[in-house]
Amino acid sequence: MEDYNIQEGKVEEASTEHLSVDYNSAKEKLHELLNKKVEKISGELNEKLNKEILRVNEHYDKILGEFNLNKSRAVERIKEATKNNEPADKLNRMKEAFEHSFSDSNLLKITSEIKAVIENEKSKYSLDVDNRLINTTIIYYPVFKVILVLDEAGFSKAVEVVYNPLTDELSSFVCDSCKTSLNELNVCHGGHICCSSCLHSCSECGKRFCRLCFAGICDSCGKLVCKNCARKCSSCGKLVCKNCMRKTGTGGEKCSNCVSYCPVCSKIVEKKTMVRGSDGRMVCRGCASKK
Ligand SMILES: [Zn+2]
Ligand SMILES: [Zn+2]
Ligand SMILES: [Zn+2]
Ligand SMILES: [Zn+2]
Ligand SMILES: [Zn+2]
Ligand SMILES: [Zn+2]
Repeated sequence: MEDYNIQEGKVEEASTEHLSVDYNSAKEKLHELLNKKVEKISGELNEKLNKEILRVNEHYDKILGEFNLNKSRAVERIKEATKNNEPADKLNRMKEAFEHSFSDSNLLKITSEIKAVIENEKSKYSLDVDNRLINTTIIYYPVFKVILVLDEAGFSKAVEVVYNPLTDELSSFVCDSCKTSLNELNVCHGGHICCSSCLHSCSECGKRFCRLCFAGICDSCGKLVCKNCARKCSSCGKLVCKNCMRKTGTGGEKCSNCVSYCPVCSKIVEKKTMVRGSDGRMVCRGCASKK
């Protein structure tokens, strides 16, 4: 914690929704921390209590012993006096004194006293632990959300970046194309985030695209072209760049491999529509029929 710069916070700033859960888990943790100590103390207290109970019992064994001894002596004395025909009022006084000192209620007094003394000892040595968190400190910190706008030759894309200042972690990105994690961000014209190795310029339009956005290599000129610049020749079915497409005299568009100039009229015509002229050269159908 010393590593962090801590400032006095404001209650309104911290999120309080998870507070009671956090409080309880903190309390549980405290209980866990105290448990060993509590067990040790209660063990020690138990030992002391047992010693005290032993002492109390010894003490009251002596008292009960004396009580029983004196009681039997008093019984003997009354028997003796009865045998000796002592006067009735003396006998009565002796019996009264006996009742006064050695009745069941006298014995009960002693036994309940023992109980009370032991209870008292128990309460002295018992441990009642109630955990309460007196001081609670809530440490909260902001998580920054930044909208990054990546600009690439007039095209822009917004990317949300989250920064956690406690862990010093920035949200991570992977290349949309090759899936490697990125430590620099590129945006392609097709809106993908990508690494530098996956970012290439289209040879036709010059815009930078990722591999996902490239259509392929032109079959005529060998240039790498984006999907916007790629065409498919309807004659041979191959992928060609738009620069390699030729307008034919009949209004269609074919790749440069599929067309040729008519040596007679100089129009661009699809090769497979040409026919051999009377002079042996390949000419367009129009020129062939004129002869
Ligand atoms: Zn990549
Ligand atoms: Zn292009
Ligand atoms: Zn792309
Ligand atoms: Zn081409
Ligand atoms: Zn073609
Ligand atoms: Zn022609």
